[in-house]
Amino acid sequence: MQKYIMAIDQGTTSTRAILFDRESNIMGIAQKELENYYPKPGWVEQNANDIWASSVGVMVEVLAKTGIMDSQVAAIGITNQRETTVIWDKKTGVPIYNAIVWQSRQSDSYCENLKKQGLEHFIKKKTGLLLDPYFSASKIRYILDHVEGAQERAEKGELLFGTMDTWLLWKMTKGKKHVSDVSNVSRTMLMNLETLQYDEELLNLWNIPRCMLPEIRSTSEIYGFTEGLFDCKIPIASLVGDQQAALFGQTCFEAGNVKNTYGTGCFLLMNTKNKIIHSNNGLITCVGWKIDGVCDYVLEGSVFIAGAAIQWLRDGIALIGKSSESEQRATSVSSCNGVYVVPSFTGLGAPYWKPQAKGGILGLTRGTTQNHIIRATVESLAYQTSDVVSAMEEDSGLKIEKMLVDGGASKNNFLLQFQSDILNTEVIRSKTSETTALGAAYLAGLAVKYWKSVDEIKEQFQVSQVFQPSMNEVLREQRIKGWKKAVDAIISF
Ligand code: ADP
Repeated sequence: MQKYIMAIDQGTTSTRAILFDRESNIMGIAQKELENYYPKPGWVEQNANDIWASSVGVMVEVLAKTGIMDSQVAAIGITNQRETTVIWDKKTGVPIYNAIVWQSRQSDSYCENLKKQGLEHFIKKKTGLLLDPYFSASKIRYILDHVEGAQERAEKGELLFGTMDTWLLWKMTKGKKHVSDVSNVSRTMLMNLETLQYDEELLNLWNIPRCMLPEIRSTSEIYGFTEGLFDCKIPIASLVGDQQAALFGQTCFEAGNVKNTYGTGCFLLMNTKNKIIHSNNGLITCVGWKIDGVCDYVLEGSVFIAGAAIQWLRDGIALIGKSSESEQRATSVSSCNGVYVVPSFTGLGAPYWKPQAKGGILGLTRGTTQNHIIRATVESLAYQTSDVVSAMEEDSGLKIEKMLVDGGASKNNFLLQFQSDILNTEVIRSKTSETTALGAAYLAGLAVKYWKSVDEIKEQFQVSQVFQPSMNEVLREQRIKGWKKAVDAIISF
């Protein structure tokens, strides 16, 4: 009987279930949108029970849609929005507060307090992370402080914490397994990157009781089996943060391999194998995955506004009707005519770190047309990516030889060609756009020997298109110099 691997991709905007066969083909997809709540400006919350219900819904739906039986599912892998925090009652399974989503800034004051105490460096050294409400620790603190009696109950062992991987595993195993994997725990700000264990000093600092935290396990192993969901018990065999899953799905297994996901923002991850590299350029260090006792670390950098700049062209200043139109409009002119768009609408990230910076359009002349501005906006995604790649190269001492890409804006061929030109590196778009789910499927499949080795997985990798650099050196340097001048102008403005 033919067997398949099911991946659950529990994202910020939706939950999806995807079935893959042995050749990494997608057999079917089911998806349910999730509701976000914004109780105050800058706050983002979700209902953890809705997340659970959506997960059950898509698992059942994808089987029904494809006609594949539960007994044909060799394993389930879970990949998830990272850092999003839920705390629930260990006995009843009822969450004591909404899940606080990674984007939410409601726990900012805790981080500001620790910064004032000069603890930023101490925390970064242990965890590889920047002291920011993005990560789970301050979100846990927020819930324990704002739900009556929660701290006391947590200390008595009556409450459990989890990121979405842990929450789903706990629900799927009917409360038998309270477990997370190193890739997810490395984003809580409670784990020591060297020991891969919870750090006592950090737990004391945040006053978070050890007994509410999930057991830390590897990224690819059988954690438990589904209970009461299907006629048979299916092993759950991978838990992995979404960006790390994409890095795995892109088969970035060697030191220096980089993937970039061009979504609303960009997420760049570089595999640094067994090296924990602390960045001098404001990048983050975390765990990629741990398989058979071997841990791969990653350097991570992000661009805040990437596809969002294309959305701004569409919704903000109405220069285009659809995101995809940006490509045809950009290529209708042969250059930007000296125009640069710096879309730092929410400040400049790595390697500049100027949170107060605003965006700008520079180099306008009487000859500037809409299409030059559109082209310059698309190009800005490539320049910003190139800035993060330079920071990664500098921090790691590794020169990148190629970049694997995915995400919505990676459909734009002009963008990818320009990216290749500016980086002077091959840019490779994989055939599947579902690299995140595929990564989780691979990790689960390895645990149950559905795929025998990483090498076997590597052989499966299918390229959709390779972009080769074709810009001459002089022009490349000139363009990059122009971009840097534009960024400098924005910073001084
Ligand atoms: P996310 O996961 O962050 O929601 P997606 O990976 O779905 O994002 O990508 C959506 C983003 O990609 C949007 O910001 C959209 O403007 C942009 N986008 C989609 N298609 C194109 C295109 N052909 N060219 C440029 N940008 C695009």
